[in-house]
Amino acid sequence: MSEKVESITILGTGPAGLTAAIYSARASLNPLVIEGSQPGGQLTITSDVENYPGFANSVMGPELMQAFRKQAERFGCRFMQGDVQKVSLDQTPLTLLTADGTEIKTRTLIIATGASAKWIGIPSEKKLLGKGVSSCATCDGFFFKNMDIVVVGGGDTAMEEATFLTRFAKTVRVIHRRDTLRASKIMQEKAFKNPKISFIWDSAIEEVLGEKEVTGVRVRNLKSNQIQDLSCQGLFVAIGHEPNTALFRSALNCNPHGYLLTQSGSTRTNIPGVFAAGDVADHVYRQAVTAAGTGCMAAIDAERYLEGHA
Ligand code: NAP
Repeated sequence: MSEKVESITILGTGPAGLTAAIYSARASLNPLVIEGSQPGGQLTITSDVENYPGFANSVMGPELMQAFRKQAERFGCRFMQGDVQKVSLDQTPLTLLTADGTEIKTRTLIIATGASAKWIGIPSEKKLLGKGVSSCATCDGFFFKNMDIVVVGGGDTAMEEATFLTRFAKTVRVIHRRDTLRASKIMQEKAFKNPKISFIWDSAIEEVLGEKEVTGVRVRNLKSNQIQDLSCQGLFVAIGHEPNTALFRSALNCNPHGYLLTQSGSTRTNIPGVFAAGDVADHVYRQAVTAAGTGCMAAIDAERYLEGHA
């Protein structure tokens, strides 16, 4: 019996992976989509998405991803839950191995594994993760009703989290390592206008205080070196993301931050038949709509590759 070889395997079910799935299913390529531990990707841990075109009154992130998925299912996409632990990309067909020992052979692979939240990297943060330390206001904000919360970061994510958290919290203090924000003007203004939000500039968190749960943070002013302890019950870390590329770094070309490199104007990586789409290969735009766009490109690139290697 000859072994089964997939035409297209897609890793990831965020906007990039699911758009690639919709396009390749509609091209009758019967894609297999492998979903990891966070099905739907980063949008499943956001609330209102106001900038995805086509939704005049905004849409909730999880709802949007559910709609992507249903659309892919409508065209017969196959979904498989799996934690891919090993890839062999130096031979065709390409091979993927999941944690439960399932081996998948495929002629093309679309990598759409996205990016994950970055952490400050101090031991107390790790110790109190889930005990007051979080990276997802949408998931955990509800638990902090009438409490004092600290958000660290100065980008759009930090402003979005801080603003969202004011729905529940008594106060939200944003701690940023510089004295100007990286966030877009509109998000900054929203946060500045919110009476519950205040800012602590030029400062870094040295330690998260508390034994069993967060009771405060120790903050150093990076200009004066002064240290102060702030009382709070929640710390939301919103300092950006890291690409989920650990599996591929030895085989595929990456930039110095670990994002997959694609050839100009396409989603082709340095290995024929392997394509990358979405945040895993994008440290610049990182939007749901750009991820969906490159997912579409990857499906078309894979389809053309298959035509050329029949
Ligand atoms: P980001 O733009 O990279 O901002 C990260 C922030 O965290 C920066 O202010 C950075 O400080 C700070 N930071 C990084 N490492 C740190 C560390 N170790 N300790 C303390 N602070 C640290 O990341 P992001 O806010 O997640 O946004 C990523 C992308 O998604 C952006 O393109 C953004 O526009 C987009 N986004 C859009 C929306 C929306 O439109 N609704 C919402 C969220 C995100 P410095 O400023 O000093 O570098």
